[in-house]
Order: sequence, then structure tokens, then C-alpha cells
Amino acid sequence: MWVKGRSGGPAVRRSNPEAELALLTVRPADRPAALPILDERRRGTKFVTLDCHSVLNSPEQTGMDFWSINPYIGCEFGCTYCYARFAHRYVVERAHAAQRLADEQLPEYRGANGWEAFEQRIFVKAGLQTVLRSDLQRYHRSAERNAPIVIGTATDPYQPAERRFRLTRLVLAELAKCEGLSVGIITKSPLVTRDIDVLQRIQQHNDLEVHVSLISLDTDLVRVLEARSPMPAVRLRAVARLTDAGVNAGLIVAPVLPGISDDVERLDALFAAARTAHARFVTASPLRLYPGIRDRFLPVLDEHFPHLAERYRRAYAGRGAAPPDYARALTRRVTKLQEKYGFESRDMRARYRKDRLDPQGELAL
Ligand code: SF4
Repeated sequence: MWVKGRSGGPAVRRSNPEAELALLTVRPADRPAALPILDERRRGTKFVTLDCHSVLNSPEQTGMDFWSINPYIGCEFGCTYCYARFAHRYVVERAHAAQRLADEQLPEYRGANGWEAFEQRIFVKAGLQTVLRSDLQRYHRSAERNAPIVIGTATDPYQPAERRFRLTRLVLAELAKCEGLSVGIITKSPLVTRDIDVLQRIQQHNDLEVHVSLISLDTDLVRVLEARSPMPAVRLRAVARLTDAGVNAGLIVAPVLPGISDDVERLDALFAAARTAHARFVTASPLRLYPGIRDRFLPVLDEHFPHLAERYRRAYAGRGAAPPDYARALTRRVTKLQEKYGFESRDMRARYRKDRLDPQGELAL
């Protein structure tokens, strides 16, 4: 059982989380239709059980060039620019349609402005390990088995919930049994260093990249844009701990925010810090401003960067991706910095494209 910490602090563990998780994987015949609450923080965040029938999403299912795994839906870090809020909304709507959420619960699971619940109602996938084992068999039979597997595309796999539920560690333990995979992990959290032992095991027979995400060294800026994310210095220390342990880790600077975090001075400082932390790579990509993000992000611009708000609205009018001219100019700036600091010149998307070689084929050579 978990109890809330003093003064509204995080919940404190009182028993074995592995045992609790094992209980979650069993679905009693008489379980009520509602979504069971596993825990609740004093500030109001609730952790909610979500049965899952599939946890490894294929490229066909998502339209992306890689397989993806997200152990949680929703994320307490609460970044204002996060494009994953739509996934949470989709789960809530499906739960409502399946009558697992009553009409009167719906506002709570959407939030006052439609976006808050993503940060305050975190879905925890029950039975994940069993489902993943079966999904991996599907993966190995699939024509898309050469595509990489990326953990953390729609939620941070090392957000605070992971301290208790340890689903990401379960995922990694399953992947560590495989050979010839290409695995990517994206996180803002130093909690990833807890799993260095499993990451090392994965790396013995697979290709692994851990992308620690950081938009700026400016702590004030980070706090304006990311409600509860770990501070920059902590993330850089995580990169150093990973690489010092031989784990292939680097920095992902995403999103780069036009007019806010894209000046040479700020980016240069990030690259220099990455070099000091022995990052193996640094990649960067510009802000994507899909319709589902605008309700959350544009008011933040209005409040903190009023001189840019109208320009953003114009530049992203009718599109989610950054304007092509801007994206090209940013690539040139990033490439120069990669060269200056001795990092490989590449962009993260290149690794996760479909036209990569079959890793099994590479091994056969
Ligand atoms: S850490 Fe990632 S998933 Fe979580 S809110 Fe921020 S951008 Fe979204």
C-alpha cells in the first residue's frame, strides 16, 4: 500500500511494488466496470488501472516508421508543448464509450480546459508484461520486424509513476531477452539511471540509444514550459552516468522553440554541456504545433512571450510541422554545432526511418 507523503509530497511506498503489480495483472471475474484507482497524490493526481490488450504498437497502427511502447498514458511532467495529449483524450473517450467512465466522471478525466487530465489522471497499463511477451512474438513474425522499437513516444517512461509501478523496467527486462533489436528510449528523467543494469544487458545483443530530452539549460525557461520536469543539471548528470556506464546515451533537444530557445548562444551552451557529460550524440528538432497542443501552449506564449504569440499563430497556421524554411535553417545551425563539438552529424529521424537495414541481416554478415 502507498500513503501520501507529508505536506502533500509524493506518495511513500509501504510494501512490495512488484507484488502489487502482479495483482494488477489478474482480472477478477467480478471486477466492477469502473476504472480502479491505484493511488492518489495530495495534489490531486490519480493513477488509474488500464487493461491493455496490446502494448507494442506497430508502424501500421500508428503511421510512424517504428514500433512504439508507452507503459503509461498521461504524464505528470506536464510540458506545455507536449503533443501526446491527444493519446490520453482518445483513451478517455474509449473508456467512456465502453461505459467504464460514467458521464459524470468525464469532466474530471478531461480537465477544466480539456488538457489538464493528461497530467492528473495517469493510466497505468495492467498486465503489461504478459501482453508484451505475446506482442514480441507478433513483432518477430511481422514484415516490419526490422523497424526500431521506441519507448516513450507519447508519455515519459520514467515519469514519477515509474518509481512505484516499474512498468518500464519490466519492458526492458523483456527486451533484454531478445537479440538483434534496435531500441530507442526517450526520457527527461534521471530515473533512467536506475535501470543501467538492464540497459547494459540489452546492449550486449541489441542496438540501443537512450535519448535524454532537454530543451535548454535555462532553468527559468524550463519551469515556464515544463510544469514538473527534472531540472537541466539533473538530466545532464543522468547522461554522464549512463555514458560512464557504457550505455549509448545522448541528448535530444526537442522541441526547439522558434525565437525562444533557438539562438546560437543557447544551443551552443547545450552542445557544450552535452560534450562535458560525455554524450555520444546530440540531435535537435523544431516545435510541432498540432491542433491538440494549441489550447495548452498558445496561452503560455500569450502570457510569457506576447511579442511572439502572433508570429507563432501565423507561422503554424494550417500546419502542425514547423515551416520548411525554418526547419532547414535550424538543421544547418544544428549541423554546425554537431561539427564544432565533434558529434556525428545526423538527425534523430534518420535512425528511425523504415529504410534501415534488417538488423538480423546485418548480424548474418
Ligand atoms: S515529458 Fe514528454 S510525454 Fe511528458 S509531458 Fe513532457 S513532452 Fe509530454
